[in-house]
Amino acid sequence: MTQATVVAAIQAVGEAIIAQKQFLTDLDAAIGDADHGINMARGFEQVIAKLSAATNEIGATLKLVGMTLISTVGGASGPLYGTAFLRAAAASQGKTNLDRHTAQAMFAAAVNGIKERGKATSGDKTMLDALEPALAAFADAIAAGKSLPACLDAACTAAYGGVEYTKTIPAAKGRASYLGERSIGHQDPGATSSYLMLKALADFCRQ
Ligand code: ADP
Ligand code: MG
Ligand code: MG
Repeated sequence: MTQATVVAAIQAVGEAIIAQKQFLTDLDAAIGDADHGINMARGFEQVIAKLSAATNEIGATLKLVGMTLISTVGGASGPLYGTAFLRAAAASQGKTNLDRHTAQAMFAAAVNGIKERGKATSGDKTMLDALEPALAAFADAIAAGKSLPACLDAACTAAYGGVEYTKTIPAAKGRASYLGERSIGHQDPGATSSYLMLKALADFCRQ
């Protein structure tokens, strides 16, 4: 995957999030403060606007994405997703073409960044409930020698399972945790946006 492909992939991810703005906001209305889709769409609109200026290496592009998300998304999710992109940027530093193993290292660095920054873990009903199983499935698929699109498909399936799982548990982190047991029955907005980003990436890479 070259720099131009990475830029196009980020654009596709951003468009998918913007298209799901209302859905993500509705999910957040049920257990949060009804802004997750608004926050994420605002951030990715800025990302897309800045991408045209990104003619640098892959790491620099991902860093631009991370910085933009941190400064424009806000809420809990902005710093977390921003950190994820900054960590992925660091893991891809100096690369002009991404192979599957670099992609795995970037994905792992991104998820670790979210864990460090947010101090959440699997089972807390957050984006990590989608991302951790997705990373594990991605790594398994890489180890099995599958193609990048096939690895991303495996990650998406696992992320979707994680989103479903968030319906069954109470939130232990973020605003939804104020609801305690009353958050059960609702899917987590951040887990859902994580799944949607992976889905958009998988769809993009399959083309
Ligand atoms: P806010 O809750 O500040 O309004 P958003 O609505 O944009 O921010 O994002 C909410 C999402 O952020 C939640 O659905 C959850 O997935 C995620 N989240 C919140 N706190 C954490 C955390 N500590 N670690 C990981 N994800 C978190
Ligand atoms: Mg919110
Ligand atoms: Mg908010």
